[in-house]
Amino acid sequence: MSERRPRPRRPSPRRPRSNGRSTAESALGPLQVALKYAEFGLQVFPVFTAATGLCQCGDSDCKSPGKHPKTQHGHKAASSERSKIVEWFEALWPESNIGIATGAASGVIVLDVDPQHDGDKSLTALVEQYGPLPRTPTARTGGGGQHVLFRHPGKRVGNRVGFLPGLDIRGDGGYIVAPPSSHVSGGCYEWQVAPWDAQVAEAPSWLWVLLSRTGSKKAGRAGTRGRLDAERIPDGERNCTLASLAGTMRRRGMTEEEICAALMEVNSGRCDPPLLDAEVERVASSVGGYTPAPQASTLTRIDPRCAHEK
Ligand SMILES: [Zn+2]
Repeated sequence: MSERRPRPRRPSPRRPRSNGRSTAESALGPLQVALKYAEFGLQVFPVFTAATGLCQCGDSDCKSPGKHPKTQHGHKAASSERSKIVEWFEALWPESNIGIATGAASGVIVLDVDPQHDGDKSLTALVEQYGPLPRTPTARTGGGGQHVLFRHPGKRVGNRVGFLPGLDIRGDGGYIVAPPSSHVSGGCYEWQVAPWDAQVAEAPSWLWVLLSRTGSKKAGRAGTRGRLDAERIPDGERNCTLASLAGTMRRRGMTEEEICAALMEVNSGRCDPPLLDAEVERVASSVGGYTPAPQASTLTRIDPRCAHEK
């Protein structure tokens, strides 16, 4: 997979097969593409490449090869000013990957689908449940995932890692690496629907509901991802396992709403296949009527991690 070859001047010659459409940006250099992004209101910045399988930053132990900013203030320096972009991508670093700052500055949030953590399966399940995503700029990432752009709603949207298995949100204070950047795997980022081929669509309303239900994990925290990988709950055990968890949560004084939110996360992350939302709600409401045991309030203080929760 990590075959070494000379660093290409521009997009890797071994681009992943395209979907049959010509991808004009792959014929352009980083400068031209970065300027094009700026025309569409996206704020960009230069990122180290990793086309040779090694990060251009020179650190053989780089933790984020081909994905970290070259600018001193990282993605916070992102800009759509022509002079700045020319300085970065022509004068200073003509061989660069391109980062796009997400959030209000660029007017977009990004659904980041990571198939290595089952993001493709999570997205398929969501599409089956809620219907297809709207047509909107979408890139195939160099690692085989997807970046789906949605319009920023105008109120703050933080970064969210693993709100469902393999699904992250890049919002205010975040960024993505954009086509035609090279990926450490040897692949390239490539638009499936480019920003100049479709307007950025509004995020489907179910996405906001899901995000509000699954709590507020900060980017970079191991939290959800680690837990969700823990144990699969197979068909035949799903209802009774969720009911048992619900009972435990109720005894600890959690409200029906809190229990329901937690069960939704367990359901989507561990139940195989997940139950319908309505069934999870039924389990939560079935325990919601019970009075919590009197010692409940003290139990919530046992876990020292609670102190760090916002
Ligand atoms: Zn590096």
